[in-house]
Amino acid sequence: MNDSIDFDPRNYQPTAAALEGRTILITGAGSGIGRAVALACAAARANVVLVGRTLRKLEAVHAEISARDSGTATIAQLDLERAIAKDYDTLAAAVLARFGRLDGLLHNAALLGNLSAIADYDVPLFTRVMHVNVTAAFALTQVLLPALKKSPDARVLFTSSSVGRRGRAYWGAYAVSKFAIEGLSQTLAHELGGSTKITVNTINPGATRTAMRRQAYPAEDLEKLPLPESITAPYLALLGPVSRGVTGGAFDAQRT
Ligand code: NDP
Repeated sequence: MNDSIDFDPRNYQPTAAALEGRTILITGAGSGIGRAVALACAAARANVVLVGRTLRKLEAVHAEISARDSGTATIAQLDLERAIAKDYDTLAAAVLARFGRLDGLLHNAALLGNLSAIADYDVPLFTRVMHVNVTAAFALTQVLLPALKKSPDARVLFTSSSVGRRGRAYWGAYAVSKFAIEGLSQTLAHELGGSTKITVNTINPGATRTAMRRQAYPAEDLEKLPLPESITAPYLALLGPVSRGVTGGAFDAQRT
């Protein structure tokens, strides 16, 4: 849409206070890429709302942030597979009560599901993956829009994948869900483009050393892949003031 063609978040080098005063909510913040981005946002002085399903993982990230001279962290436990409307409403109300607005929303949590042919794909598993990866991200965005609209310069960032941009055999519901995320992002960006300062984009982290990557590629040498900590700068670019006006884009965190 506008400005996204020339913007490359991979060139960004965040300053020490790049996200000062911003409140940023991150799903799947207890491990992998979500954890790394949460730590990086806090290091850039954001107030981070850590959302995830496993409380002890969120508490560990909270403790890491609290031990540093950085922004603050708040925990909001939410299982995106089981959450009902009341849970979403409670979270949105808590964000507004505590911070008065939301400046950034990173949809990072996802389920891989199975790698199998569409011909054999288990239907209940397909539904679970679509629910966590797409429906929950839609519902969370919808319930948090009033808080995002209270920010003078908010960001919504969805997590995509290479298989969400070009289909690949055996990636099943995961690939379908990431295509859907690209569609959700473009649709929302178009809707919000004229009337608000909220920007909406997707980011593909690229191959990264996490539990999900191990699950997808069990025979791969994970040591050869970058750590989540090394790919956080593009996320901060797309969550921070430097990406003002950049919306409707599909970005990569790594050079291929
Ligand atoms: P991880 O498996 O390390 O992290 C996934 C996160 O999602 C975990 O924190 C997990 O929580 C959370 N999550 C899963 N299900 C739910 C749920 N029902 N409710 C709440 N949280 C949930 O994977 P990555 O860090 O690798 O993945 C992060 C994102 O990056 C995903 O969207 C993934 O699709 C994408 N991606 C990753 C790539 C890679 O190479 N790593 C490549 C391309 C895209 P818990 O720990 O409690 O289970």
